[in-house]
Amino acid sequence: MEAIRSGNAPNLHEMLGKKVDDRGVYTHAYSAPNALTILPSTTVAAWSSIFTGATPPYTGVPGNEWFVREEMRFYAPAPVSVDETDDTYAAVTDDLVGKALRTPTLFKQAGVKSAVSLNYVYRSADYYTTVDPTSMVSIMGEFVKGAVGADDDKKNIYVKLDRDSVPKMLDSIEDHGMPKLQVCYFPGIDLYTHVASSEPLKTEVGYIERITDPLVGQVLDAYKSYGVLDQTYIVIIADHGHTPVLRDPQHALGSEPDSGPPAVVKKVGFRPRKFALKPGPDEQDFQSVFAYQGAISYVYLADRSTCPNPGQTCDWKKPPRFEKDVMPVVRAMYKENLTGKFTPRMKGTLDLIFARRTVPPGKDTLPYEIYDGKRLVKISDYLDEHPRPDLIDLDRRMRWLSVGPYGNRVGDVLLLTKSGLNRPIDKRFYFSGPYNSWHGSPSMQDSHIPLIVASQSHSGEELKELVDRVAGDKPTELDLTPIVRALLLTPVPVHTVPPDSPAAIPANSPEMAPANPAGAPPANPAVASPSATPAATPQ
Ligand SMILES: [Zn+2]
Repeated sequence: MEAIRSGNAPNLHEMLGKKVDDRGVYTHAYSAPNALTILPSTTVAAWSSIFTGATPPYTGVPGNEWFVREEMRFYAPAPVSVDETDDTYAAVTDDLVGKALRTPTLFKQAGVKSAVSLNYVYRSADYYTTVDPTSMVSIMGEFVKGAVGADDDKKNIYVKLDRDSVPKMLDSIEDHGMPKLQVCYFPGIDLYTHVASSEPLKTEVGYIERITDPLVGQVLDAYKSYGVLDQTYIVIIADHGHTPVLRDPQHALGSEPDSGPPAVVKKVGFRPRKFALKPGPDEQDFQSVFAYQGAISYVYLADRSTCPNPGQTCDWKKPPRFEKDVMPVVRAMYKENLTGKFTPRMKGTLDLIFARRTVPPGKDTLPYEIYDGKRLVKISDYLDEHPRPDLIDLDRRMRWLSVGPYGNRVGDVLLLTKSGLNRPIDKRFYFSGPYNSWHGSPSMQDSHIPLIVASQSHSGEELKELVDRVAGDKPTELDLTPIVRALLLTPVPVHTVPPDSPAAIPANSPEMAPANPAGAPPANPAVASPSATPAATPQ
């Protein structure tokens, strides 16, 4: 909104029109003033929830990286604690995230011809466009190392990623006809802000003005040239915010085996898993696993009675024992946070430690509770005693994160660092290698997102009514999928569609493989576009 107000993002500004009132109404748009992320406020988890309408214990994709006990497999499509980018490659070329998802995507639910540019979540979309997978992987490889990228926008890898994506998307429209639903993801700003060398929050605004807004303009111009802009709803959403942090090993609780979080679990007798995507055959005897999400870390624990001796592989299908495996780690983390006795870098870094009783496989997991130094306390009871207005809607959002059929993918213990703009920057910490900005927390700065619906053929007031009807007065990322489905059922009058719009052009021979060769069967034939071309035949 700062970029839009500045006047330096004219395409977004024009899309919204003039501000009508303080409730978020614009001439041609509604901008929900109080929309929130899910937890963790982290990319891959958030996009999975955005494009399914389901919480992480239902999507099964709870982070940028996570561990699946039953498969004894670590997933890292956006690596944080590991260096390897194999899963980034698999996400781009082999639908890694889509295959991990346990709930149908918006593209399946809506049952209309749909296309996705760059986003990790494209399962059941008819078309997926991305930059060359090897360049995507080399960008992620640079990012994992914390590479800042060139000062010159023309040479900056993160900028180039955004810029290169638009022609691919527009070519796909030209080749396959206008989809009913197009996702256009610009990931550059997230990566760029992590590594911004000074004032990350100003950098973000500048990035929208210099890079994102002109690209939005290119897309809108294409829609205009096809004569369909007036019939198009535009929804703007983001996965999370960003909070500046200090780029040094005192604040980055990194992934060295002998200091920081792994050192604490070692002290209570656990063998921590090596920070690697696929540890070697002789490194399979681990009893604890960390998966990093910035301000949050999941800690997965084994039932150590199944693997007491080095060299033994634990039975990860079994949950850990609450008293003998979970609570020793909880107490050790609590104590280490107070004293820093075993690994000084942990002292004073943690804000809250969450844990819960374990359940047998196949049962919904229980809500996380907070350790108060003596015992686990329900989050709502804890907050009654220790109000935390800086952790936005914590009870509800932690319940969303904890409870569900795949809730064991969010760990047995959950660590939350001290974070948020209300703390001085030298008092903020994060789980990853060193960066200048991170996210993942329940703070307002990480959690507050744009949720804007615009249409040149509707008033902002009408759009507000529609959003309110679907999302209520506390909209979150979970409302995006229902909002888009409602928009598909609220068509704009079609009499202005010119006959030569690409929706009416039959698909040419596709140059790119369809994301879903089988095609998504229309869930609701009433919404399917009669002029949509069928999914291309697999070649
Ligand atoms: Zn990020």
